[in-house]
Amino acid sequence: MTERKPRGFRLVTVQASNRLTPSMQRLRFTGRDLHHFATDENLHVRLHLPLTTDSDPEVQTRYYTIRSIDAEAGWFDVDFVLHEDGPGSNFARRAAPGTVCGVSGPCGLGIKPARHYLLAGDETALPAIARIAEIMPRHARGRILLEIQAPEDSISLDTPQDVDVHWFYRHAAAQAPEFLRKLSTEVAAFKTLQDRFIWIAGEHTAVMPFRPPLRGIPSLCVPYWRRGDD
Ligand SMILES: Cc1cc2nc3c(=O)[nH]c(=O)nc-3n(C[C@H](O)[C@H](O)[C@H](O)COP(=O)(O)OP(=O)(O)OC[C@H]3O[C@@H](n4cnc5c(N)ncnc54)[C@H](O)[C@@H]3O)c2cc1C
Repeated sequence: MTERKPRGFRLVTVQASNRLTPSMQRLRFTGRDLHHFATDENLHVRLHLPLTTDSDPEVQTRYYTIRSIDAEAGWFDVDFVLHEDGPGSNFARRAAPGTVCGVSGPCGLGIKPARHYLLAGDETALPAIARIAEIMPRHARGRILLEIQAPEDSISLDTPQDVDVHWFYRHAAAQAPEFLRKLSTEVAAFKTLQDRFIWIAGEHTAVMPFRPPLRGIPSLCVPYWRRGDD
């Protein structure tokens, strides 16, 4: 890998690859000195993915979420959405124990302390939402809205007792627009609450319309990918 090394760069090795759901592959990476990635302030990393197995391969960089990490034991997990074609998705499909890639960061932001949380997103946001659900204060109240392809793509989430989870399925035509309608309603409702935090991530055109109504509100609203970006 000949590119100049970005902040926090490490080489890591795939230790295990497991299919979580039909659309999600979990890779466990091992490496040395991973402690600075183990923070709830910055949940994401840049993965520097070799496109071939040559000794000097072309490298493509993509953002991913650390789903879980044990820096002491020297590993972290990343859950990759398996979509049709792209260096990230293809890497996840092909990686086997022993495959090496680069990681740098961490980057991105975590959640702010609040009493009420609204979290929403698609499959690419699911690893971050699953992690945030685990680190939310146990007394938090709130709602999680997830839009995924089909019921078999859902995973179980470790949420506080007063946080409920709603799944919307894209393959069921009636439910696809329902996700965005429901999210608009919930954003309007959560905006009226005191002490709330709203977190939305997903495809660019789905996410961006929520930015103006969230201006001035404690929130994160981030496009995680863009349809047709080749
Ligand atoms: C902060 C952050 C955290 C992220 N965390 C995760 C994560 O934990 N897991 C994860 O899977 N993704 C995550 N993403 C999204 C991921 O970076 C993008 O989906 C990225 O485009 C995947 O790269 P690729 O090389 O597979 O496809 P690209 O080369 O970027 O795109 C190739 C083609 O595939 C399409 N495409 C890209 N992503 C998808 C998708 N998800 N579904 C359908 N079509 C797609 C594009 O529109 C394009 O046409 C995160 C993004 C950000 C910004």
